[in-house]
Amino acid sequence: MTNLKIIKDVKELQLEIQRNKLKKKKIGFVPTLGGIHKGHLELIKLAKKKSDIVVVSIFLNPLQFDSRNDFKTYPINLDSDIKKINKEKVDILYLPTIKEVFPTKKITKIKASSKANKLCGKFRKSHFDGVVTVLKSLFSQVSPKLVFFGEKDFQQTLIVKDLISKYKLNIKVITIPTIREKSGLAYSSRNILLTNHEKKIASFLFKTIKEISHQAKKDLNKINNLKLNGIKKLINYGFKKIDYLEIYKKNYLSKKNIKKNNLRVFVAAKIGKTRLIDNL
Ligand code: AMP
Repeated sequence: MTNLKIIKDVKELQLEIQRNKLKKKKIGFVPTLGGIHKGHLELIKLAKKKSDIVVVSIFLNPLQFDSRNDFKTYPINLDSDIKKINKEKVDILYLPTIKEVFPTKKITKIKASSKANKLCGKFRKSHFDGVVTVLKSLFSQVSPKLVFFGEKDFQQTLIVKDLISKYKLNIKVITIPTIREKSGLAYSSRNILLTNHEKKIASFLFKTIKEISHQAKKDLNKINNLKLNGIKKLINYGFKKIDYLEIYKKNYLSKKNIKKNNLRVFVAAKIGKTRLIDNL
């Protein structure tokens, strides 16, 4: 027996939202691309604790993919996703198509904040514009009080906060730390694309940034060397390409005034065709 409402139609969604709002229910929203894993499930569990009604969306947003191949091979399995979401006693699973996300057909593109010019934004052109364009529409359709994001996508979370403050949306962002496998590898929908051998290599991503973060906190003057050595190490472990390995003042993504208690290490690297990101 399940109470999960699976909704594909935006009008039906909004009726349901309206019904709940009339009853003064606090709506919590967990947007995802699908390929549900433990990281998503922890977000959902927290959303359940903090909200009266939990809406999860699965929408493989084409606007945020700069590579057609990446979009086409993104690993989602809707049947298994629905089972996992159902188990968490989610109230509404929203499965829109692009037509539902932009019912007027006209997509008004939104520019992400300047924090999008760094890290992943440098390597995935207009990725964050695609993220905020879709999230702005989803936020207005779901009208949540709370939205839940993972630190795994730390840069994205900062950009979402900027979006919310730019448009003065009455939404609070709640974040969770990155959920990891025993090896330290951050759960990601993309992990399924890795062979066992590649998974072993992938686990060095976390080990490396953990070591760098530890060393950087000991001596901030070593930051540049730590970054260079870190890149070399990752290549030696078997990563094919390091898009970036950066240390920033975390909430500003800036190199100014980095201190022990505000620094964060960010990395994006490719193993074979799979691109992984992490931060600590
Ligand atoms: P995605 O489906 O990749 O867009 O992720 C949906 C949400 O889950 C985003 O807020 C992510 O930051 C979050 N998320 C993804 N992986 C993890 C993880 N390993 N730990 C915590 N949150 C995660």
